Amino acid sequence: ADVEGYCLFLLEETAGRLVVRTTGGAGTEALQDLKLPLGEGLAGRVFQTQSAETHGSKGPFRWPDVPLDARSVLAVPLVSQNTSIGVLTLFSSAPAAFSEQAVAFFTVVANQLTAAVENARLYHKTQELSYRDGLTGLFNRRYFEETLAQELHRAERYRMPLSLVMMDIDHFKDYNDTYGHPQGDQALRAVAEILIQTTRRVDIAARYGGEELVLVLPLTPKDPARLVAEKLRLATEGTGFPSGRLTISLGVATYPEDGGSAAELIKAADDALYAAKQAGRNRVEVFARASSG
Ligand code: GH3
Ligand code: MG
Ligand code: MG
Repeated sequence: ADVEGYCLFLLEETAGRLVVRTTGGAGTEALQDLKLPLGEGLAGRVFQTQSAETHGSKGPFRWPDVPLDARSVLAVPLVSQNTSIGVLTLFSSAPAAFSEQAVAFFTVVANQLTAAVENARLYHKTQELSYRDGLTGLFNRRYFEETLAQELHRAERYRMPLSLVMMDIDHFKDYNDTYGHPQGDQALRAVAEILIQTTRRVDIAARYGGEELVLVLPLTPKDPARLVAEKLRLATEGTGFPSGRLTISLGVATYPEDGGSAAELIKAADDALYAAKQAGRNRVEVFARASSG
């Protein structure tokens, strides 16, 4: 078989369609941005039937996913554990270019591709999971520490500020004792969700430990950071949790004035948090040297 072009479609699960992952060869440039609803085109059909198809024609095919100058096409499904994950299509300008052997050969190729794609995805997911906290979906402490160090280096190099917000749920032990630990977990997840909803894409929200969450705000001086903290406090106070009300206390510290290293900055934010607890809870305190004792 004289393969002159190929196209690999992968399922985009969230959108429920096939997208072109890679193409090669004559006439396939036009396919590069193709998005194919399931069931449409040759690839869309092969995706659903999970059986390879080969076709020859004297004139152009009318499928949107086959180049105009192709006269032979072979489409092979990528199937992993009975589930389609994509389709590999091959093109030739010669009519009847794909024999039975070609179909068998490219079925093996498709199986190898399937294994490679699944491996890459598993690797990606494992990497992602190792940086996430299982309960809240926030970044975990390890990721927080690694990222804070990196962000601090960047802040230092470009002489930009960086703020840290540490927060802790008020009287959370009482909440657990009253409503039970599973309800406590759910409330903790809800607070994490507030954190995600309230912050920007560049901010790093992590679970520092227990019911203590932390937020890294790159390029953010103290006053704007205090406003973010205040927003979080208000949003939590105003949230109807499944069982009763909850509030949080927050401490804010800023590079460079409150600390030059990650450890100093964490300590400063923690001191400010402690001051917020001392001052009656459900409040924001910014680090002040006097509060560190
Ligand atoms: P405050 O911070 O206002 O001083 O009081 P607190 O009762 O929240 O503080 P403390 O540090 O004494 O207790 C924290 C409690 O948080 C202990 C534990 O019951 C609860 N907690 C910590 N992590 C989790 C968790 O993952 N799930 C649940 N349900 N509870 C947790
Ligand atoms: Mg605590
Ligand atoms: Mg607490």
